[in-house]
Amino acid sequence: MHRIAQLDHKHVWHPFTQMRDWLKEEPIVIASGRGAVLRDVHGNEYLDANSSIWTNLHGHAHPKINSAIQQQLKKISHSSALGFASEPASLLAEKLAKAASPRNRKPQTKLEKVFYSDDGSTAMEVALKLAYEFARRSGRSKNPRFLSLEGAYHGDTVGAVSLGHIDLFHKAYSGLLFKTDKVAAPYCYRCPYNRAQPERGDARDYRKCNFECVKLVEQKFAAQRKTKNPYAAMVVEPLMQGAAGMIAQPEGWLKRVAEIIRSDGAQLIADEVMTGFGRTGFPSGLRTRNPKLEPLFACHKEDVQPDFLALAKGMTGGYLPMAATLTTQKVFDAFLGEYADFKTFFHGHSFTGNQLGSAAALASLEILQSRESDSARRSLQQNLRDELQQLWRLENVGDIRQVGLVAGIELVKNWRTREPFALRVRAGIRVCEAMARRGVLTRPIGNVIAILPPYCTTGKQLAKIISALGESVEENFKK
Ligand SMILES: *Cc1c(COP(=O)(O)O)cnc(C)c1O
Repeated sequence: MHRIAQLDHKHVWHPFTQMRDWLKEEPIVIASGRGAVLRDVHGNEYLDANSSIWTNLHGHAHPKINSAIQQQLKKISHSSALGFASEPASLLAEKLAKAASPRNRKPQTKLEKVFYSDDGSTAMEVALKLAYEFARRSGRSKNPRFLSLEGAYHGDTVGAVSLGHIDLFHKAYSGLLFKTDKVAAPYCYRCPYNRAQPERGDARDYRKCNFECVKLVEQKFAAQRKTKNPYAAMVVEPLMQGAAGMIAQPEGWLKRVAEIIRSDGAQLIADEVMTGFGRTGFPSGLRTRNPKLEPLFACHKEDVQPDFLALAKGMTGGYLPMAATLTTQKVFDAFLGEYADFKTFFHGHSFTGNQLGSAAALASLEILQSRESDSARRSLQQNLRDELQQLWRLENVGDIRQVGLVAGIELVKNWRTREPFALRVRAGIRVCEAMARRGVLTRPIGNVIAILPPYCTTGKQLAKIISALGESVEENFKK
Protein backbone atom coordinates (compact mmCIF):
# COMPACT_ATOMS: atom_id res chain seq x y z
CA MET A 1 0.00 0.00 0.00
CA HIS A 2 1.18 3.52 -0.82
CA ARG A 3 2.77 5.24 2.16
CA ILE A 4 0.17 8.04 2.11
CA ALA A 5 -2.66 5.53 2.03
CA GLN A 6 -1.09 3.86 5.07
CA LEU A 7 -0.99 7.14 6.96
CA ASP A 8 -4.57 7.82 6.00
CA HIS A 9 -5.63 4.43 7.29
CA LYS A 10 -3.74 4.97 10.48
CA HIS A 11 -5.06 8.44 11.34
CA VAL A 12 -7.73 10.00 9.14
CA TRP A 13 -11.39 9.60 9.99
CA HIS A 14 -13.46 10.26 6.85
CA PRO A 15 -16.82 12.04 6.73
CA PHE A 16 -20.04 10.06 6.22
CA THR A 17 -17.97 6.88 5.91
CA GLN A 18 -18.24 3.49 7.54
CA MET A 19 -14.59 3.30 8.52
CA ARG A 20 -14.63 -0.48 8.78
CA ASP A 21 -15.38 -0.62 5.05
CA TRP A 22 -12.86 2.13 4.34
CA LEU A 23 -10.04 0.25 6.06
CA LYS A 24 -10.61 -2.85 3.92
CA GLU A 25 -9.21 -1.32 0.76
CA GLU A 26 -6.45 0.94 -0.38
CA PRO A 27 -8.02 4.36 -0.88
CA ILE A 28 -7.52 6.44 -4.02
CA VAL A 29 -5.06 9.15 -2.96
CA ILE A 30 -5.59 12.26 -5.05
CA ALA A 31 -2.32 14.00 -5.80
CA SER A 32 -3.23 16.61 -8.39
CA GLY A 33 -5.93 17.87 -10.69
CA ARG A 34 -6.32 19.86 -13.87
CA GLY A 35 -9.62 20.82 -15.44
CA ALA A 36 -12.10 17.99 -14.98
CA VAL A 37 -9.33 15.43 -14.37
CA LEU A 38 -8.02 14.18 -11.03
CA ARG A 39 -4.75 12.24 -10.79
CA ASP A 40 -3.82 9.82 -8.01
CA VAL A 41 -0.41 9.04 -6.52
CA HIS A 42 0.06 6.14 -8.93
CA GLY A 43 -0.56 8.37 -11.95
CA ASN A 44 -4.05 7.02 -12.69
CA GLU A 45 -6.46 9.60 -14.07
CA TYR A 46 -10.12 10.02 -13.21
CA LEU A 47 -12.89 12.34 -14.32
CA ASP A 48 -14.29 14.37 -11.44
CA ALA A 49 -17.95 13.63 -12.21
CA ASN A 50 -19.33 15.25 -9.07
CA SER A 51 -17.03 18.28 -9.03
CA SER A 52 -15.39 17.11 -5.79
CA ILE A 53 -18.67 16.86 -3.90
CA TRP A 54 -20.42 19.68 -5.76
CA THR A 55 -17.83 22.35 -5.04
CA ASN A 56 -15.76 22.82 -8.17
CA LEU A 57 -17.06 25.09 -10.92
CA HIS A 58 -14.44 25.76 -13.58
CA GLY A 59 -12.11 22.80 -13.15
CA HIS A 60 -9.03 22.21 -11.03
CA ALA A 61 -5.91 24.36 -11.16
CA HIS A 62 -7.63 27.02 -13.25
CA PRO A 63 -4.93 29.55 -14.15
CA LYS A 64 -7.10 32.57 -13.27
CA ILE A 65 -8.12 31.32 -9.84
CA ASN A 66 -4.62 30.04 -9.08
CA SER A 67 -3.17 33.38 -10.03
CA ALA A 68 -5.72 35.33 -7.97
CA ILE A 69 -4.83 33.24 -4.92
CA GLN A 70 -1.10 33.66 -5.58
CA GLN A 71 -1.44 37.44 -5.94
CA GLN A 72 -3.38 37.61 -2.71
CA LEU A 73 -0.83 35.34 -0.94
CA LYS A 74 1.87 37.90 -1.60
CA LYS A 75 -0.15 40.52 0.27
CA ILE A 76 -1.80 38.63 3.13
CA SER A 77 -3.73 35.37 3.58
CA HIS A 78 -6.00 36.27 6.42
CA SER A 79 -6.88 39.14 8.69
CA SER A 80 -9.79 39.21 11.07
CA ALA A 81 -13.18 40.61 10.10
CA LEU A 82 -13.63 41.31 13.80
CA GLY A 83 -12.63 44.93 13.84
CA PHE A 84 -11.14 45.22 10.34
CA ALA A 85 -12.27 45.47 6.75
CA SER A 86 -10.39 44.03 3.78
CA GLU A 87 -10.21 44.73 0.10
CA PRO A 88 -11.14 41.31 -1.35
CA ALA A 89 -14.00 40.74 1.10
CA SER A 90 -15.48 44.18 0.36
CA LEU A 91 -15.14 43.82 -3.41
CA LEU A 92 -16.66 40.36 -3.25
CA ALA A 93 -19.61 41.54 -1.15
CA GLU A 94 -20.40 44.15 -3.81
CA LYS A 95 -20.26 41.54 -6.59
CA LEU A 96 -22.35 39.00 -4.68
CA ALA A 97 -24.96 41.62 -3.80
CA LYS A 98 -25.20 42.62 -7.43
CA ALA A 99 -25.51 39.04 -8.69
CA ALA A 100 -28.15 38.31 -6.04
CA SER A 101 -30.28 41.35 -6.86
CA PRO A 102 -31.40 41.34 -10.49
CA ARG A 103 -31.93 44.77 -12.00
CA ASN A 104 -35.70 44.88 -11.95
CA ARG A 105 -35.85 44.36 -8.18
CA LYS A 106 -37.49 46.79 -5.79
CA PRO A 107 -34.94 48.23 -3.35
CA GLN A 108 -36.55 46.54 -0.32
CA THR A 109 -36.03 43.07 -1.81
CA LYS A 110 -32.40 43.59 -2.73
CA LEU A 111 -29.96 41.30 -0.99
CA GLU A 112 -27.30 43.86 -0.23
CA LYS A 113 -26.00 42.70 3.13
CA VAL A 114 -23.43 39.92 3.13
CA PHE A 115 -22.48 37.93 6.22
CA TYR A 116 -19.47 35.69 5.61
CA SER A 117 -18.76 32.30 7.12
CA ASP A 118 -16.91 29.10 6.29
CA ASP A 119 -19.17 26.50 4.71
CA GLY A 120 -22.74 25.65 3.82
CA SER A 121 -23.69 24.58 7.31
CA THR A 122 -22.51 27.82 8.86
CA ALA A 123 -24.17 29.88 6.11
CA MET A 124 -27.42 28.14 7.05
CA GLU A 125 -26.84 28.62 10.79
CA VAL A 126 -26.46 32.34 10.12
CA ALA A 127 -29.71 32.47 8.11
CA LEU A 128 -31.47 30.50 10.83
CA LYS A 129 -30.31 32.73 13.68
CA LEU A 130 -31.04 35.92 11.75
CA ALA A 131 -34.53 34.76 10.77
CA TYR A 132 -35.18 33.64 14.35
CA GLU A 133 -34.19 36.98 15.81
CA PHE A 134 -35.97 38.90 13.08
CA ALA A 135 -39.25 37.10 13.78
CA ARG A 136 -38.95 37.90 17.47
CA ARG A 137 -37.88 41.49 17.07
CA SER A 138 -40.49 42.30 14.46
CA GLY A 139 -43.15 41.01 16.87
CA ARG A 140 -44.20 38.22 14.51
CA SER A 141 -43.45 35.40 16.88
CA LYS A 142 -42.22 34.82 20.42
CA ASN A 143 -41.24 31.28 19.65
CA PRO A 144 -40.20 31.23 15.99
CA ARG A 145 -40.78 28.02 14.06
CA PHE A 146 -39.45 26.88 10.73
CA LEU A 147 -40.87 24.84 7.90
CA SER A 148 -38.77 22.83 5.46
CA LEU A 149 -39.16 20.03 2.96
CA GLU A 150 -39.15 16.30 3.40
CA GLY A 151 -35.69 14.97 2.69
CA ALA A 152 -34.22 18.46 3.10
CA TYR A 153 -30.51 18.72 3.82
CA HIS A 154 -29.03 21.98 5.05
CA GLY A 155 -25.76 20.90 6.62
CA ASP A 156 -24.37 19.01 9.59
CA THR A 157 -24.14 21.47 12.45
CA VAL A 158 -26.91 21.07 15.02
CA GLY A 159 -29.06 23.96 13.78
CA ALA A 160 -28.66 22.94 10.14
CA VAL A 161 -29.51 19.31 10.95
CA SER A 162 -32.61 20.52 12.79
CA LEU A 163 -33.75 22.31 9.65
CA GLY A 164 -33.22 19.18 7.59
CA HIS A 165 -35.39 16.09 7.35
CA ILE A 166 -33.23 13.13 6.48
CA ASP A 167 -34.39 10.43 8.87
CA LEU A 168 -31.04 8.70 9.18
CA PHE A 169 -29.36 11.83 10.56
CA HIS A 170 -32.32 12.77 12.71
CA LYS A 171 -32.42 9.41 14.39
CA ALA A 172 -28.75 9.73 15.27
CA TYR A 173 -29.07 13.12 16.97
CA SER A 174 -32.73 13.53 17.82
CA GLY A 175 -31.94 14.40 21.44
CA LEU A 176 -29.80 17.35 20.36
CA LEU A 177 -32.09 18.85 17.76
CA PHE A 178 -34.86 21.43 17.98
CA LYS A 179 -38.23 20.79 16.42
CA THR A 180 -39.01 21.98 12.92
CA ASP A 181 -41.94 21.12 10.70
CA LYS A 182 -41.78 19.35 7.39
CA VAL A 183 -43.97 19.29 4.33
CA ALA A 184 -43.94 17.02 1.28
CA ALA A 185 -41.35 17.81 -1.36
CA PRO A 186 -42.43 17.67 -4.99
CA TYR A 187 -40.87 14.27 -5.68
CA CYS A 188 -42.67 13.72 -8.99
CA TYR A 189 -41.25 10.27 -9.67
CA ARG A 190 -42.82 9.01 -6.45
CA CYS A 191 -45.75 11.42 -6.43
CA PRO A 192 -48.43 10.11 -4.03
CA TYR A 193 -51.06 11.60 -6.35
CA ASN A 194 -49.57 9.61 -9.20
CA ARG A 195 -49.35 12.62 -11.44
CA ALA A 196 -46.07 11.83 -13.17
CA GLN A 197 -46.40 8.80 -15.37
CA PRO A 198 -43.60 6.26 -15.69
CA GLU A 199 -42.13 6.84 -19.10
CA ARG A 200 -39.10 5.86 -21.02
CA GLY A 201 -38.16 9.32 -22.03
CA ASP A 202 -37.49 12.76 -20.75
CA ALA A 203 -41.01 14.09 -21.19
CA ARG A 204 -43.27 13.45 -18.24
CA ASP A 205 -46.98 13.73 -18.13
CA TYR A 206 -47.70 16.59 -15.78
CA ARG A 207 -50.98 17.40 -17.46
CA LYS A 208 -53.05 16.07 -14.62
CA CYS A 209 -50.84 17.69 -12.01
CA ASN A 210 -52.71 20.35 -10.07
CA PHE A 211 -49.79 21.04 -7.75
CA GLU A 212 -51.35 19.05 -4.93
CA CYS A 213 -47.99 19.31 -3.16
CA VAL A 214 -48.28 23.09 -3.20
CA LYS A 215 -51.68 22.83 -1.54
CA LEU A 216 -50.02 20.89 1.27
CA VAL A 217 -47.66 23.81 1.81
CA GLU A 218 -50.63 26.17 1.89
CA GLN A 219 -52.36 23.97 4.47
CA LYS A 220 -49.25 23.90 6.66
CA PHE A 221 -49.09 27.68 6.71
CA ALA A 222 -52.81 28.01 7.44
CA ALA A 223 -52.65 25.51 10.30
CA GLN A 224 -49.64 27.23 11.83
CA ARG A 225 -51.32 30.65 11.60
CA LYS A 226 -54.21 29.29 13.67
CA THR A 227 -51.81 28.63 16.54
CA LYS A 228 -51.11 32.40 16.70
CA ASN A 229 -47.46 31.55 16.20
CA PRO A 230 -47.08 31.81 12.42
CA TYR A 231 -43.96 30.42 10.75
CA ALA A 232 -40.89 32.61 10.91
CA ALA A 233 -39.58 31.21 7.66
CA MET A 234 -39.65 28.39 5.19
CA VAL A 235 -36.37 26.90 4.06
CA VAL A 236 -36.04 25.62 0.50
CA GLU A 237 -33.33 24.32 -1.80
CA PRO A 238 -34.64 26.00 -4.95
CA LEU A 239 -35.28 23.95 -8.13
CA MET A 240 -33.49 20.87 -6.88
CA GLN A 241 -32.99 19.22 -3.51
CA GLY A 242 -29.47 17.84 -3.53
CA ALA A 243 -28.77 15.40 -0.71
CA ALA A 244 -32.43 14.30 -0.71
CA GLY A 245 -31.53 12.51 -3.96
CA MET A 246 -31.37 15.20 -6.64
CA ILE A 247 -35.09 15.78 -6.51
CA ALA A 248 -36.13 18.30 -9.12
CA GLN A 249 -39.09 20.58 -8.58
CA PRO A 250 -41.54 20.88 -11.47
CA GLU A 251 -41.57 24.26 -13.17
CA GLY A 252 -43.77 26.68 -11.27
CA TRP A 253 -43.51 24.93 -7.90
CA LEU A 254 -41.05 27.41 -6.41
CA LYS A 255 -42.96 30.44 -7.63
CA ARG A 256 -46.21 29.17 -6.16
CA VAL A 257 -44.61 28.31 -2.84
CA ALA A 258 -42.88 31.69 -2.68
CA GLU A 259 -46.27 33.37 -3.15
CA ILE A 260 -47.71 31.40 -0.23
CA ILE A 261 -44.79 32.41 1.96
CA ARG A 262 -45.16 36.06 0.94
CA SER A 263 -48.88 36.23 1.56
CA ASP A 264 -48.36 34.65 4.97
CA GLY A 265 -45.75 37.25 5.85
CA ALA A 266 -43.10 34.61 6.59
CA GLN A 267 -39.60 34.77 5.18
CA LEU A 268 -38.01 32.59 2.54
CA ILE A 269 -34.58 31.14 3.20
CA ALA A 270 -33.06 29.88 -0.02
CA ASP A 271 -30.33 27.32 0.49
CA GLU A 272 -28.36 27.65 -2.74
CA VAL A 273 -25.28 25.96 -1.37
CA MET A 274 -25.53 23.34 -4.13
CA THR A 275 -27.68 25.14 -6.72
CA GLY A 276 -25.90 28.52 -6.74
CA PHE A 277 -23.36 29.96 -9.19
CA GLY A 278 -24.84 28.68 -12.41
CA ARG A 279 -25.24 25.04 -11.43
CA THR A 280 -28.92 24.94 -12.36
CA GLY A 281 -28.20 26.23 -15.84
CA PHE A 282 -30.14 28.58 -18.04
CA PRO A 283 -33.80 29.54 -17.99
CA SER A 284 -35.88 28.12 -20.80
CA GLY A 285 -37.54 31.44 -21.66
CA LEU A 286 -36.04 34.72 -22.78
CA ARG A 287 -32.27 34.69 -22.99
CA THR A 288 -30.03 37.66 -22.71
CA ARG A 289 -26.94 37.89 -24.84
CA ASN A 290 -25.05 39.34 -21.93
CA PRO A 291 -23.58 36.70 -19.59
CA LYS A 292 -23.39 39.29 -16.81
CA LEU A 293 -27.18 39.43 -16.77
CA GLU A 294 -27.86 35.69 -16.77
CA PRO A 295 -29.22 34.51 -13.43
CA LEU A 296 -26.56 32.72 -11.39
CA PHE A 297 -29.01 31.53 -8.77
CA ALA A 298 -31.80 28.98 -9.03
CA CYS A 299 -34.39 31.28 -7.39
CA HIS A 300 -34.07 33.85 -10.11
CA LYS A 301 -34.89 31.33 -12.78
CA GLU A 302 -38.42 31.37 -11.35
CA ASP A 303 -38.27 35.08 -10.68
CA VAL A 304 -38.33 34.48 -6.93
CA GLN A 305 -36.36 36.70 -4.56
CA PRO A 306 -35.65 35.17 -1.15
CA ASP A 307 -35.07 37.04 2.12
CA PHE A 308 -31.97 35.00 2.81
CA LEU A 309 -29.63 33.43 0.30
CA ALA A 310 -27.10 30.91 1.62
CA LEU A 311 -24.04 30.32 -0.58
CA ALA A 312 -20.99 28.11 -0.14
CA LYS A 313 -19.65 25.10 -2.10
CA GLY A 314 -18.99 26.72 -5.51
CA MET A 315 -18.47 30.22 -4.16
CA THR A 316 -14.68 30.13 -4.40
CA GLY A 317 -14.86 28.00 -7.53
CA GLY A 318 -14.48 25.14 -5.06
CA TYR A 319 -10.92 26.10 -4.11
CA LEU A 320 -11.25 27.23 -0.52
CA PRO A 321 -13.83 26.87 2.23
CA MET A 322 -15.85 30.05 2.33
CA ALA A 323 -19.54 30.88 2.53
CA ALA A 324 -21.94 33.80 2.66
CA THR A 325 -25.46 34.54 3.81
CA LEU A 326 -27.06 37.43 1.96
CA THR A 327 -30.05 39.30 3.30
CA THR A 328 -32.07 42.51 3.06
CA GLN A 329 -31.70 45.96 4.54
CA LYS A 330 -34.84 45.26 6.55
CA VAL A 331 -33.28 42.31 8.38
CA PHE A 332 -30.06 44.26 8.82
CA ASP A 333 -31.95 47.17 10.39
CA ALA A 334 -33.52 44.91 13.01
CA PHE A 335 -30.06 44.50 14.49
CA LEU A 336 -29.28 48.21 14.76
CA GLY A 337 -29.40 50.03 18.07
CA GLU A 338 -27.37 51.65 20.80
CA TYR A 339 -24.44 49.54 21.97
CA ALA A 340 -26.12 48.96 25.30
CA ASP A 341 -29.31 47.73 23.62
CA PHE A 342 -27.28 44.63 22.71
CA LYS A 343 -29.12 44.18 19.44
CA THR A 344 -25.83 43.17 17.82
CA PHE A 345 -25.80 39.95 15.82
CA PHE A 346 -23.75 37.81 18.19
CA HIS A 347 -22.22 35.40 15.74
CA GLY A 348 -18.94 35.00 13.86
CA HIS A 349 -16.06 32.71 13.01
CA SER A 350 -12.29 33.08 13.18
CA PHE A 351 -11.97 32.95 9.40
CA THR A 352 -14.99 35.13 8.56
CA GLY A 353 -14.26 37.11 5.38
CA ASN A 354 -10.99 35.26 4.69
CA GLN A 355 -8.89 37.20 2.19
CA LEU A 356 -7.58 34.25 0.18
CA GLY A 357 -11.07 32.79 -0.15
CA SER A 358 -12.48 36.17 -1.18
CA ALA A 359 -9.79 36.56 -3.85
CA ALA A 360 -10.59 33.09 -5.23
CA ALA A 361 -14.31 33.87 -5.19
CA LEU A 362 -13.80 37.13 -7.07
CA ALA A 363 -11.83 35.33 -9.77
CA SER A 364 -14.42 32.58 -9.96
CA LEU A 365 -17.26 35.10 -10.41
CA GLU A 366 -15.36 36.84 -13.15
CA ILE A 367 -14.90 33.56 -15.03
CA LEU A 368 -18.54 32.69 -14.47
CA GLN A 369 -19.70 35.97 -16.00
CA SER A 370 -17.48 35.67 -19.07
CA ARG A 371 -18.74 34.77 -22.54
CA GLU A 372 -16.47 31.70 -22.67
CA SER A 373 -17.96 30.22 -19.53
CA ASP A 374 -21.46 31.13 -20.63
CA SER A 375 -21.16 29.25 -23.90
CA ALA A 376 -19.29 26.32 -22.33
CA ARG A 377 -22.10 25.90 -19.81
CA ARG A 378 -24.79 26.08 -22.47
CA SER A 379 -23.05 23.29 -24.43
CA LEU A 380 -22.51 21.21 -21.32
CA GLN A 381 -26.18 21.50 -20.37
CA GLN A 382 -27.20 20.32 -23.84
CA ASN A 383 -24.57 17.55 -23.94
CA LEU A 384 -25.75 16.30 -20.58
CA ARG A 385 -29.35 16.25 -21.80
CA ASP A 386 -28.36 14.31 -24.95
CA GLU A 387 -26.02 11.84 -23.25
CA LEU A 388 -28.46 10.99 -20.47
CA GLN A 389 -31.03 9.72 -22.98
CA GLN A 390 -29.08 6.49 -23.55
CA LEU A 391 -29.60 5.49 -19.90
CA TRP A 392 -33.37 5.09 -20.28
CA ARG A 393 -32.72 1.78 -22.02
CA LEU A 394 -31.50 0.26 -18.74
CA GLU A 395 -33.86 -1.95 -16.76
CA ASN A 396 -32.52 -0.53 -13.49
CA VAL A 397 -32.79 3.14 -14.32
CA GLY A 398 -36.10 4.35 -12.94
CA ASP A 399 -35.79 8.09 -13.28
CA ILE A 400 -33.39 10.63 -14.72
CA ARG A 401 -33.65 14.13 -13.33
CA GLN A 402 -31.69 16.98 -14.82
CA VAL A 403 -31.70 20.63 -13.87
CA GLY A 404 -29.14 22.55 -15.88
CA LEU A 405 -25.73 21.11 -15.03
CA VAL A 406 -26.86 18.65 -12.36
CA ALA A 407 -28.38 15.24 -12.84
CA GLY A 408 -29.61 12.47 -10.58
CA ILE A 409 -30.12 8.97 -11.93
CA GLU A 410 -32.39 6.91 -9.68
CA LEU A 411 -31.69 3.18 -9.69
CA VAL A 412 -34.56 0.78 -9.07
CA LYS A 413 -35.01 -2.98 -9.14
CA ASN A 414 -37.32 -2.70 -12.11
CA TRP A 415 -38.34 0.46 -13.94
CA ARG A 416 -41.86 -0.80 -14.56
CA THR A 417 -42.72 -1.23 -10.89
CA ARG A 418 -40.35 1.50 -9.61
CA GLU A 419 -39.52 -0.83 -6.74
CA PRO A 420 -36.52 0.66 -4.92
CA PHE A 421 -33.40 -1.27 -3.96
CA ALA A 422 -33.08 -1.82 -0.21
CA LEU A 423 -30.32 0.45 1.14
CA ARG A 424 -28.31 -2.52 2.40
CA VAL A 425 -27.95 -3.73 -1.20
CA ARG A 426 -25.65 -0.70 -1.62
CA ALA A 427 -26.79 -0.33 -5.24
CA GLY A 428 -25.51 3.23 -5.57
CA ILE A 429 -22.19 2.48 -3.88
CA ARG A 430 -21.59 -0.54 -6.09
CA VAL A 431 -22.29 1.42 -9.26
CA CYS A 432 -19.94 4.20 -8.18
CA GLU A 433 -17.20 1.68 -7.38
CA ALA A 434 -17.59 0.20 -10.85
CA MET A 435 -17.45 3.71 -12.33
CA ALA A 436 -14.20 4.39 -10.45
CA ARG A 437 -12.68 1.29 -12.09
CA ARG A 438 -13.58 2.95 -15.39
CA GLY A 439 -11.88 6.18 -14.41
CA VAL A 440 -14.93 8.19 -13.33
CA LEU A 441 -15.43 9.41 -9.76
CA THR A 442 -18.72 10.32 -8.12
CA ARG A 443 -20.66 9.48 -4.98
CA PRO A 444 -24.16 8.12 -4.71
CA ILE A 445 -26.98 9.43 -2.56
CA GLY A 446 -28.61 6.17 -1.56
CA ASN A 447 -29.83 4.72 -4.87
CA VAL A 448 -29.31 7.92 -6.80
CA ILE A 449 -26.15 8.54 -8.80
CA ALA A 450 -25.28 12.23 -8.79
CA ILE A 451 -23.63 13.73 -11.87
CA LEU A 452 -22.38 17.33 -11.57
CA PRO A 453 -19.47 17.79 -13.94
CA PRO A 454 -17.16 20.80 -13.67
CA TYR A 455 -18.23 23.45 -16.19
CA CYS A 456 -15.07 22.88 -18.25
CA THR A 457 -15.99 19.22 -18.95
CA THR A 458 -15.72 18.56 -22.68
CA GLY A 459 -18.25 16.67 -24.76
CA LYS A 460 -15.87 13.73 -24.96
CA GLN A 461 -15.29 13.67 -21.21
CA LEU A 462 -19.01 13.83 -20.55
CA ALA A 463 -19.64 10.97 -22.98
CA LYS A 464 -17.13 8.91 -21.00
CA ILE A 465 -18.84 9.75 -17.70
CA ILE A 466 -22.27 8.68 -18.92
CA SER A 467 -21.09 5.54 -20.71
CA ALA A 468 -19.14 4.50 -17.59
CA LEU A 469 -22.34 4.98 -15.61
CA GLY A 470 -24.38 2.90 -18.06
CA GLU A 471 -21.83 0.08 -18.16
CA SER A 472 -21.51 0.06 -14.39
CA VAL A 473 -25.26 -0.30 -13.94
CA GLU A 474 -25.35 -3.17 -16.44
CA GLU A 475 -22.36 -4.89 -14.88
CA ASN A 476 -23.90 -4.82 -11.42
CA PHE A 477 -27.43 -5.86 -12.13
CA LYS A 478 -27.41 -8.01 -15.22
CA LYS A 479 -29.63 -11.01 -14.81
C1 LIG B 1 -23.54 20.71 1.01
C2 LIG B 1 -24.78 21.42 1.41
C3 LIG B 1 -24.88 22.06 2.65
C4 LIG B 1 -23.79 21.99 3.68
O1 LIG B 1 -22.62 22.58 3.23
P1 LIG B 1 -21.21 22.22 3.93
O2 LIG B 1 -20.26 23.11 3.23
O3 LIG B 1 -20.98 20.77 3.67
O4 LIG B 1 -21.37 22.53 5.36
C5 LIG B 1 -26.03 22.76 2.92
N1 LIG B 1 -27.04 22.83 2.04
C6 LIG B 1 -26.98 22.22 0.84
C7 LIG B 1 -28.12 22.36 -0.10
C8 LIG B 1 -25.85 21.48 0.49
O5 LIG B 1 -25.81 20.87 -0.69
